[in-house]
Formats: sequence, C-alpha cells, structure tokens
Amino acid sequence: MPVRAYVGLGSNQGNPRLQIRDALSALKQIQQTELVGHSRLYRSKPMGLVDQPDFVNAVAALDTCLDAHAMLLELQAIELVQGRIRGSLRWGPRTLDLDLLLYGDKRIDTEQLTVPHPGLSQRSFVLYPLYEIAPGLRLNNGELLADLIKSHSSTDLELLGSV
Ligand code: AMP
Repeated sequence: MPVRAYVGLGSNQGNPRLQIRDALSALKQIQQTELVGHSRLYRSKPMGLVDQPDFVNAVAALDTCLDAHAMLLELQAIELVQGRIRGSLRWGPRTLDLDLLLYGDKRIDTEQLTVPHPGLSQRSFVLYPLYEIAPGLRLNNGELLADLIKSHSSTDLELLGSV
C-alpha cells in the first residue's frame, strides 16, 4: 500500500518560482510515486541569515511505495540536479531545498532522517501551505494541524498564487 508523504519545497535563488515549478515536475518523475497534489506558492522571510532574498515555498503531497530513506535520496538527487551546493551555510541562500515533512504517521529518527521534520510545527511557511492541501491532517502526536496553525501568525507570509 502506498504511503502519503508530504514534501516542503523552498527556493530563494535562480528564479525561485521556476525552481519550484521544475521541482514539482521532478517530483512527478520519482519511481513508484505519484504526485497527488501541491499547494500554491507563498513568499516567506529568510530564517537565520536575514541578509538574503525572500524564499518561495510550497508543499507537495505524494503517494509512494518507496521507503522514507529511498524518498530522501530521491529528494536529494532533485536538489543536486537543480544546483544546490550541499554543505553551504546553514539557513543560507539555496536554489532548492526539499524536506520530507511527513511520511504517513511514521516517526523516524536516524542519522540521515528525522520525520516528522523538526521544523514542521514551528514554521509558518510549512504549516500554511500544508494546511491548504491537508486541512484535516492530524499529526502523529495527536495534534490537529488546524489547531497548530492557530498559534502561528501568517504575517510574514505572502500568498503569491498558483504555481
Ligand atoms: P538542510 O541543509 O537543512 O536541508 O539539511 C539537509 C540534511 O538534513 C541532510 O543531510 C538530511 O540527511 C538531513 N535530514 C534529516 N531529516 C530530514 C528530513 N525530514 N528531510 C530532509 N532532510 C533531512
């Protein structure tokens, strides 16, 4: 049975809207996986190193027969193709960042992978696009996304529109 996974997309370099569009096309090509939906695009302020361009973010839903680590490798391959230089500044500028936010209701904690993604419940630029495509989602700690989102302001977030 396929597992519903959610992937966060972010870019602030090299025509970010195009990067996200290309990344969604690449997600469609992942083996044993179907792209079942994605949010509209949102503009967000950079975290950490603030002297860099705003980010464009979106969230995609995938049904996949790959295990979570195989999915992470697929996401990293897409990042690589779209020119991200790994090992550069944490929270620095990036052509494309793909995060595995959720993999079904699994909790994973290995050297390569933490799921749910640790930033998920803190980042408006993840929570709002995720809510757009999965308004009834309940996290594996029992919390409803709809409740979680209430404690997160969207003032730093601008809806840009469809991809
Ligand atoms: P970052 O540069 O912030 O995108 O982090 C990339 C690193 O985070 C990679 O080495 C991944 O192995 C690791 N990582 C851990 N959990 C996740 C996750 N849920 N999604 C994406 N990368 C992850």
